Order: sequence, then C-alpha cells, then structure tokens
Amino acid sequence: MAVKFRDYYEILGVPRDADEKKIKSAYRKLARKWHPDLHSGAEKERAEEKFKEINEAYEVLSDTEKREKYDRLGSNWRNGDSFDPGNMGGTYYYSSGDFSEADLHGFSDFFASIFGGGGRAGSSRWASNYSTGPQRGQDNEYQLELTLEEAYHGGIKSLRVSSGLLCTACGGRGISGSSICSTCGGTGSIPESRTIEVKIPAGVHEGSTIRLKGQGGQGSGGGPRGDLYLKVVLKPHPVYKVTGKDVEMELVLRPDQAVLGDRVTVSTLERSVVLTIPAGTRSGQRLRLKGKGLKGRKGEANGDQYVRIKIDIGSTMSDEEKDLYRKIRELHERRDG
Ligand SMILES: [Zn+2]
Repeated sequence: MAVKFRDYYEILGVPRDADEKKIKSAYRKLARKWHPDLHSGAEKERAEEKFKEINEAYEVLSDTEKREKYDRLGSNWRNGDSFDPGNMGGTYYYSSGDFSEADLHGFSDFFASIFGGGGRAGSSRWASNYSTGPQRGQDNEYQLELTLEEAYHGGIKSLRVSSGLLCTACGGRGISGSSICSTCGGTGSIPESRTIEVKIPAGVHEGSTIRLKGQGGQGSGGGPRGDLYLKVVLKPHPVYKVTGKDVEMELVLRPDQAVLGDRVTVSTLERSVVLTIPAGTRSGQRLRLKGKGLKGRKGEANGDQYVRIKIDIGSTMSDEEKDLYRKIRELHERRDG
C-alpha cells in the first residue's frame, strides 16, 4: 500500500523544532480559519479537507510519542514522495492498538499506516472527531429572596428561572454557515424561562444553599441537565434585624415600665411570649430570649432573640402625669441640693 507522505509541519506551518506552545498556537489559528462551519458552497468542502488535515497534524505533533515516531519516518521523505510502509524494515514502526477507533476517525491512510487503524481510517467525517458526545448541562446558581418568615417556617415557593437551552439552529456551536448564528447570537444557547416549585426547608439562613438536582442547564448530545443552586438571601424585615442566627427587635417602654419593671408581650418568629422587664432597665439595654432566633443547623443550638429597649415618653401626657413628674423633680432637687 503506497500512500502519500504528509508533512505535518508544513500543514501547521511550523518549523521542525517547534515547541509544544508554538504547535498549539499554530493549530488554534488554523482551526479557526478552516472550521467548516465558517465556510459555505465549494469552499466548505475544501475547508473540511483542510480542517481534517490540520487536526491530523495536530494529533501527531502534539503527542510526544507520536511525534517521535513520525519524525523517525519523516526524516527520510520529502513532501509529495510516496510512502510505502511495507519497505520500512518490517513492522517496527507499526503500532496498531495504540489508539482507539475513535482516535482514527477522519484521519488519512498515511496516518493509519504509521499509527494503525487500517481501512477504517478516513471513513468518517471530521465531525465525529470533533463532537464530544453526551455532555451534562451547566449548573446554575440563583439568588432566592425570602422573607424571614419564609426562611424560618419553610414551605413551597414558585420561582421563575432561566437557563440555557442548546441552540438547535447551530447545534450549540454559535456559528451557522459563514456567520454568527442569528438564532442564538453566537452564544450557542437560547435562554429558556421556566417556573419551578421550590420546597424550602424550614430554618434556612442567609447564605444557605438549596440544591435542585436536574433543574440546571440542558445537557447536550443526550446528556443530563445540570443542577440548580439557590442561594438564600433574606429580605429586610420590618421588625427583626438578623445577624447570623440571632434576631434583634426594638421594644419601646414608658419610663415607669423601665423604672418599676413590667411584663410585656413580645412577638417572636414562632409565637408571642411574655417578656419580663426587670426594674431599672435602661434605654439601649438588650434583653435576651434564649433560643428564639433562627433554627440551628443540624446539631447546632438555635439562635437567640434580643430585645433592645428604647424608652419613650409618648406623645401625650396628662396634667396629672406632669404633676407627678414635677414631684419627682422636687425629690431629685432636694436630694442633690
Ligand atoms: Zn445558534
């Protein structure tokens, strides 16, 4: 079998001593130039042929072992000469079995005669060498805005998400014919908007992640969908300020409640409780309701609720009340003076 010698260095336009980096960059440049999707009509066929050649050259020159083997052979040939592996001193240079059948798809007889593969080589289109088979879709991440109550109690929430759907017009390549795919604008995917029902576990916190298996981007080539990750973000709450697992609220007391102490009903995330205000409570003081904050993650204690005291005289005061305050002032003046 006499096959035509192929000068892989010439195909990639690199010198014989080119290093890995140079070969890679030359290959990339040429592959971009000759990608069959970028050409049409009669040019397309030529491009396919070129693209195949480039890939074959790169397959050999980018692999140290293959390149060595090729160099040993190639040093004796000039481009255009016929190459008869049968006269090469037996089977020394053959290495069938080194490469899987897939590696040999689209490669020339010349390639096959050096590296094995026999009649199968060159029988299939470049595409089979180019595509990568089933691929899992992308994982997507979204922010999930929840009220504090939703995070605390959990529940079901409808959520509109969009993810990339493989563009069927260009097969996800982003190019169609000689130009950018007009269907997807060159991105290779079409945004797809869906509504999904999310089950929110009770007790999620700011920054908690909810994983929805198989709700991410669509796979290609029959591959499964990716996953969807929802990152919890808490909406500001009108009453509670959240810090980690703890919540804090403000409680306005009258001066007499603060001075003499009292029992006051306050709300917590779970239900209302009665809070004991000790006599002599100061403005700005924080009273703690243990375990009334956000739920702890597995094995962890719950957060606490803090009640920050603010003392306010209120907007109206009766004459009788004012009289009593005058009496208090007199008492102070007598004590201090
Ligand atoms: Zn497209």
